[in-house]
Amino acid sequence: MAKPLFKQIALIGIGLIGSSLGHVIRERGLAGRVSGFAQTPETREKALALRVVDEVHETAADAVRGADLVILCTPVGAFAAVAAEIGPLLAPGTIVTDVGSVKESVVTQVAPHMPVGVHLIPGHPVAGTEQSGPEAGFAELFQNRWCILTPMDGTDPEQIEKLAAFWRACGSDVEFMKPDHHDLVLAITSHIPHLIAYNIVGTADDLGKVTASEVIKYSAGGFRDFTRIAASDPTMWRDVFIHNKDAVLEMLGRFTEDLTDLQRAIRRGDSDRLFEIFTNTRSIRKRIIDAGQETEAPDFGRHSGGS
Ligand code: NAP
Repeated sequence: MAKPLFKQIALIGIGLIGSSLGHVIRERGLAGRVSGFAQTPETREKALALRVVDEVHETAADAVRGADLVILCTPVGAFAAVAAEIGPLLAPGTIVTDVGSVKESVVTQVAPHMPVGVHLIPGHPVAGTEQSGPEAGFAELFQNRWCILTPMDGTDPEQIEKLAAFWRACGSDVEFMKPDHHDLVLAITSHIPHLIAYNIVGTADDLGKVTASEVIKYSAGGFRDFTRIAASDPTMWRDVFIHNKDAVLEMLGRFTEDLTDLQRAIRRGDSDRLFEIFTNTRSIRKRIIDAGQETEAPDFGRHSGGS
């Protein structure tokens, strides 16, 4: 086992992502100790039972004492309150990062509470499932997935490299981006697909009041795959849309234009246009498979994806 990269890692929030980190940190010996915080006694008990942390605390402030790496793993909407609580207890030299699905908002919510000498380096592992809670976590979640780091101008390159080394040790490939660019890219690759899934399942549910049994019975025709995404955690996704409003609205505008294009082609019976669009989209899936981000397995009941 390699020498630990950090003396003590504090996981603030021990759900799917926090517990997956706990598993991989302990399995690969990436920290001397792992401390954790979860708000409910149930999650704290489960985290100890699953052995994803060495110690668990009732407050985030207690969990960060002595930590040289702090990872915020709560929903994005909780970041400001957590940062205000832990800020005064952070020792100089500590790296503070997060796993939130939105990045510009981390800078505005967390940076004002960071004392001088603490290195804030926002991050996002593009790895997840529709499950939540500590029992959903597993050590391989980050394997062969991208982790995007969005350091602010002026951050010490040595600290950025230390955090990148941590994510590589978790199995991820590391990429660097500006926070606003991250939010635009993820709006189209993750946030809008979730919005579409929430919407289509909601529409079908309205229809289902008329034809309930048919919606379930014939769900394998495509609907079932949307229900997997639409089963994702409501708190997490509420926070993503509230905190990535501008990029989501920008991409939603483009999406609506393209939907109108499809609508027009169907109304006009423009088969060439439909065939052209569908051929192009098929090639995009092939490129995702070639890039190792998906398999050709025909069943959509996959165990992990990106969020
Ligand atoms: P999760 O399984 O629902 O876990 C959330 C954790 O945060 C739980 O420990 C929960 O505590 C705690 N928490 C919830 N609300 C809180 C609050 N207001 N204050 C303090 N703690 C709170 O969520 P997750 O899927 O791990 O997501 C965590 C973060 O990872 C989010 O920021 C999300 O954007 C990001 N992310 C998620 C995915 C994904 O696919 N799920 C992928 C990449 C990144 P209790 O259990 O005690 O309530």
